[in-house]
Amino acid sequence: MITQAPRGTYDLYGEQMTDWQRVESEIAGLMQAFHYSEIRTPVFEHTELFQRGVGDTTDIVQKEMYTFEDKGGRSITLKPEGTAGAARAYLEHKLYADPQPTKLYYVTPCFRYEKPQAGRNRQFTQFGVELYGASSPVADVEVISIGYELLRRLGINNVMLHINSLGCENCRARYNNELKAYFGERREQLCDTCRDRLERNPLRILDCKNPECREIVAGAPSILDALDDECRAHFEEVKRLLEALGIPYVVDPGIVRGLDYYTRTVFEFVCTEIGAQGTVCAGGRYDHLIEELGGDAVPAVGFGAGIERLLLAMKASGRPSAEPCALSLFVGHYGAAAEAEAAALTYRLRQENIPAECDLLGRSVKAQMKYANKKGARFTMILGDTELETGSAVLKNMENGDNTSVFFRDISDWKGLITG
Ligand code: ATP
Ligand code: MG
Repeated sequence: MITQAPRGTYDLYGEQMTDWQRVESEIAGLMQAFHYSEIRTPVFEHTELFQRGVGDTTDIVQKEMYTFEDKGGRSITLKPEGTAGAARAYLEHKLYADPQPTKLYYVTPCFRYEKPQAGRNRQFTQFGVELYGASSPVADVEVISIGYELLRRLGINNVMLHINSLGCENCRARYNNELKAYFGERREQLCDTCRDRLERNPLRILDCKNPECREIVAGAPSILDALDDECRAHFEEVKRLLEALGIPYVVDPGIVRGLDYYTRTVFEFVCTEIGAQGTVCAGGRYDHLIEELGGDAVPAVGFGAGIERLLLAMKASGRPSAEPCALSLFVGHYGAAAEAEAAALTYRLRQENIPAECDLLGRSVKAQMKYANKKGARFTMILGDTELETGSAVLKNMENGDNTSVFFRDISDWKGLITG
């Protein structure tokens, strides 16, 4: 018998599920306020989409994708992130023909073959936003403010916003040469992966987690010194606007992001209290992605936030777990005639969105009340022959023991008592 989920995956149920539902409903409310609309794209896509959209030299494409051949012989990949699918859908459905900019969000499972640890799973969930068609710094700051506001609404207060600019392709080319020269002189001290990165994409070295590489990286030239006038002005404006919105940040030239497609602004919200996997939300600008996927040049900015890590940060912030939905009334019964009446009353309460339960196991009244107690019912009522005859039953407040006699069929007379 198989009684274990695959490594790096988990089941959600019980209390944890309640916490998740709270985060998901905060996201839905937040996105209404920012006026972004939800997009759902398939869990799998053609592998080429991620090779192009995420980038051939990234860890994701090189090491982490769940790729397989389907029965038709096509190479298929489970989505490792949310942006590529959203960008593909934007092109496929010509969303650029709608009033611009296009503002989308998604909550989606993602799959990466990584070493599982705290805050790192093989199936995880990303909340992401995509803003297509706006190149101005005010768009970058709108997207960052979504992340900031989400953290605020979730009660996460142990997170700092780190920002950086990677410039445009000209700045990058210049900077790559500087990095090649710098790391080239220190080639022997780099890890094997970084030696390979030195040839393919030296910027990636800045992202290496290896302690020896990190030491060398600390002395590397800063991208911010390599920015041309336009990119520098864009970055300055991002900072000015963040200040105008009252969003605190630190400039961190070490932020390069794991994906190939970033240009200009990149940012991470980092939590120092949840261990090594502290980045709860990360994103930036990717002005060439849509072109890369075969569209016209459309500027874009967005982020992805791991919901698992948001929940860890909420715990670390001391935010208490969400209360599960309370059971307003348990309708008990004795005798066959009362069973149907109890079931019908329960159904009518449910039609009015009042959480109610009745007995489904043919238990004794005593056992029914024990169950109601365990489930935290706020009120109980027991229907039997007498109640059916008189139409009157006792509504018992389980918190203070108060009894109120009510005509149980006239729900509107007493529902205020149990919902208040
Ligand atoms: P990391 O630095 O942790 O490897 P990344 O740079 O690979 O993250 P992105 O591709 O930018 O991350 O994904 C955006 C967000 O998704 C991350 O900031 C994180 O919150 C979450 N995330 C990424 N990979 C995982 C994972 N394996 N398990 C859980 N959450 C993840
Ligand atoms: Mg990663």
